[in-house]
Amino acid sequence: MTDRWDAIILGGGPGGSTLAASLARLGRRALVLERERFPRFHIGESLLPRSREIFERLGLDEKLDALFLRKYGARFLCSSTGRMRTYSFADAFEPKFEFAYQVQRDAFDQLLLRHAADLGAEVRESWEAVEVLFDGSRAVGVRARPRARSGDAALADSSDAVELRAPVIVDATGRDTLLASRMRRKAQVAELDKTALFAHYEGVVREEGIHQGNIQVIIFEHGWFWFIPFRGEVTSVGAVVSSSWLRSRRKGESLDELFDRTVAESGWAREFLANARRTRPVGALADFSYRIDQLAGDGWLFVGDAGGFLDPLFSTGAHLAIKGADLAATAIHRALEAGDTSRAAFAGYEAEVRYAVDLFLGVVQGFYKGHFRETLFEENQRPTMRKLITSMLAGDVFHAERRPQWASFLQQYYPPEVPTFT
Ligand SMILES: Cc1cc2nc3c(=O)[nH]c(=O)nc-3n(C[C@H](O)[C@H](O)[C@H](O)COP(=O)(O)OP(=O)(O)OC[C@H]3O[C@@H](n4cnc5c(N)ncnc54)[C@H](O)[C@@H]3O)c2cc1C
Repeated sequence: MTDRWDAIILGGGPGGSTLAASLARLGRRALVLERERFPRFHIGESLLPRSREIFERLGLDEKLDALFLRKYGARFLCSSTGRMRTYSFADAFEPKFEFAYQVQRDAFDQLLLRHAADLGAEVRESWEAVEVLFDGSRAVGVRARPRARSGDAALADSSDAVELRAPVIVDATGRDTLLASRMRRKAQVAELDKTALFAHYEGVVREEGIHQGNIQVIIFEHGWFWFIPFRGEVTSVGAVVSSSWLRSRRKGESLDELFDRTVAESGWAREFLANARRTRPVGALADFSYRIDQLAGDGWLFVGDAGGFLDPLFSTGAHLAIKGADLAATAIHRALEAGDTSRAAFAGYEAEVRYAVDLFLGVVQGFYKGHFRETLFEENQRPTMRKLITSMLAGDVFHAERRPQWASFLQQYYPPEVPTFT
């Protein structure tokens, strides 16, 4: 009996939905199981230009352009020295994609998931993957169950779990890391133990003209802020702070109060929010960076945050998920064609994702240690250095065909310190 699906994808975030859409385009039958019913709130609202390569291929660019604000660059501001520097994506080494989008994730994720369904993927929302099923070392299926919605007594609990089978199982469950957590293959990246506080506001100061969609990254003593403007009035504002700052939280202090006290620590943040009104209560998330020792095995792969997470400093998460998903689709398609879905068939995918993540990781670590921060604001910065930083910020980090010289330079000057696995 042949399987009903070529691949079962756990999670319908940007990673899962891009993979499903890409597989459908290649004529493959994909099933997506998404635990939530969309639209739902999600953090991670600033995209990178190089993801547009995939959006174009999937036929999404017009829809995205109609809904979301264009982001032509990133501005970094230092609260203690007053320095600021804008990086415009048009200055990258390969400036084909000179803007990205700032997206409300409820609308963005829903658009991507619906698009996957339109292209032919089967999408089941309110379906939770409970466990990946193995035959020896080979993943062969998943146990999953429909989730009860309020007032819907027909959908019940785990006793209703069913077994679904396919030759390839992809974990795209995001920071839930369904399979990696079970396998105990997850390690925190040292010194990236941050916490994020975030909310939405109206009436935040914005730049003018083409720069109005730029992300603002404001550095201050205890971490940094993001200001991500959306089309319309709303701006997403978040603070990624050190664990020592978090420990300063007073007894009984609400998250709203803690956030206000954090904003008070930065002159720029105070100025940007001087006439703003909070439209969404402050949320908090421990955003520890983690690494997973293996991204694929016999009959299984990890895509996006399910395979590792990097501090959001350069807005890299969605891009790594989207581009990773595109690479995974090609690898899965070829593996199925060749009739070999063993770990070896996915070795190229794993190497390429690792290379991209590690380019970013080294620079993020360089930022927190301080030396990359200096490079970022350097006076009389050389044009080549500017192009190099801009190319990285644009997400030009996948170089399977030809590794550019500037990437080797980054690797050399900002080598990643990766956790070891015992
Ligand atoms: C504080 C913070 C700020 C960030 N800012 C940015 C940013 O500005 N730009 C950016 O690109 N990235 C940012 N990120 C990262 C970004 O949020 C993620 O990298 C991105 O969402 C990864 O996509 P994904 O598809 O891998 O996972 P997700 O988007 O998390 O999607 C996973 C999906 O799986 C579903 N799921 C989970 N468990 C199950 C299960 N058992 N069964 C079925 N479904 C399941 C979830 O409901 C979810 O919809 C930020 C992250 C943090 C923590």
